[in-house]
Amino acid sequence: MSQLAIGRSGSRSGIYPARYSAAGLIRRGLTHTEWPPAWRPHPVKPSYDVVIVGGGVHGLAAAYYLAANHGITDVAVLDKGYIGAGGSGRNTAILRSNYLTPEGVRFYDRSVRLYQRLAADLDYNVMFSQRGHLTLAHNDSSLRTMRWRAEVNKVEGVDSEVIGPAKIKRLAPFIDVSDAARYPVLGALYHPPGGIIRHDAVVWGYARGAAARGVHIHQHTEVTGIDVAGDRVRAVRTTQGDIATRTVLNATAGWSTLIADMAGVRLPITTYPLQAAVTEPVKPFLSTVIVSGSLHVYISQTDRGELVFGASVDPFTSYSMRGSLEFIEGLAGHVLELMPALSKLRVLRQWAGLCDMTPDFSPIMGPTPVGGFLVDVGWGTYGFKAGPVSGETMADCIASGQTPEIIAAFGLERFTAGALVGEKGAAAVGH
Ligand SMILES: Cc1cc2nc3c(=O)[nH]c(=O)nc-3n(C[C@H](O)[C@H](O)[C@H](O)COP(=O)(O)OP(=O)(O)OC[C@H]3O[C@@H](n4cnc5c(N)ncnc54)[C@H](O)[C@@H]3O)c2cc1C
Repeated sequence: MSQLAIGRSGSRSGIYPARYSAAGLIRRGLTHTEWPPAWRPHPVKPSYDVVIVGGGVHGLAAAYYLAANHGITDVAVLDKGYIGAGGSGRNTAILRSNYLTPEGVRFYDRSVRLYQRLAADLDYNVMFSQRGHLTLAHNDSSLRTMRWRAEVNKVEGVDSEVIGPAKIKRLAPFIDVSDAARYPVLGALYHPPGGIIRHDAVVWGYARGAAARGVHIHQHTEVTGIDVAGDRVRAVRTTQGDIATRTVLNATAGWSTLIADMAGVRLPITTYPLQAAVTEPVKPFLSTVIVSGSLHVYISQTDRGELVFGASVDPFTSYSMRGSLEFIEGLAGHVLELMPALSKLRVLRQWAGLCDMTPDFSPIMGPTPVGGFLVDVGWGTYGFKAGPVSGETMADCIASGQTPEIIAAFGLERFTAGALVGEKGAAAVGH
């Protein structure tokens, strides 16, 4: 059964504590009645059927689909901070599916489709704006990769095409497409379904939907150990007490190797900081997302008018989430090479998050050699867009004990089998 039916009937039949609507807003305004909390805290129980470590989009989506699609509700989501404290609350919220490998394209396309109906499923406005996504090519080899991606995308039914400078100029008039640019723009991969979303709304929407179905969300609950006996998970140890369980899902992105170590599982993942920045708001002028791999920069404009800038990961491994002056100086230079007209715009703030990079720029999903210990990790700089499909497939995986076909290529064993899913050409800066 599709989760569309479950989600919609769920909200209509009163699963949510209060259905969000214009009529409800007016009624509460007139009667001075507060909205009930999106979810209520619970004491940590001594046991749960499933414990999900990490309250980002992946952990919360898995909890939601476990409850909504499979009726598995004895589930705890544990986060050492608050929900969305990791990459899920720090990303630049770009969604797209124009990847390079057929496995990647199919997977991310499913996620974009789930995102398209997510606001209705969750009864929560996630503000998905499919405004188009342009990846610029500044040299022949990038253009060749764009053509390759466009062909793979088309074969998989995803809307993508290579366009020339004249059309780029029409879509984004502020881009310098002249020969005088330091890195002249030769063409671009144009992906109309790509766009941006409100990341915090997605996180809260999944949390509210999961909690309404019985999932317990425990913020400020850090996992400090995982008990394994006879090659099987038995319990997790936390700062709020021990929890007996037979199933643990590691959805901790930048911290995922630390959690996996607790279960005795080694992951081929390295954690790097990734920074981003936002400017003061200006009148809307940029209606697409612009990415330049050669300049290591991407730009979008929010509905409020701020420009959001991103880049590639910092060139060193770290668990630090502090911004640096070096980053913002480099970023500003690259932005101006692309859009010289922005030179007087002021940066409002910058921030950083952690990225769990794999050698092939694809995720690691599914079971591990430790029974009951599953992973949904390796999300690097591109994992927010995969939240819905990852949640859906990890829920299937937990409920059925089988690995769904759509994530079969992303198993941990691919690193020993030598069957990598190379996505660097589509994921390095594009997010
Ligand atoms: C600046 C930046 C820009 C990005 N831009 C994009 C983009 O445009 N598009 C895109 O698709 N992706 C983007 N990403 C990547 C994306 O944000 C992540 O891949 C995604 O959010 C990962 O989600 P998650 O739920 O797996 O992990 P996270 O959201 O990182 O959540 C992991 C959670 O685990 C918790 N945790 C860690 N250790 C413990 C513990 N011991 N006990 C309990 N809890 C623990 C953390 O507190 C955290 O809340 C970007 C990332 C950054 C940093």
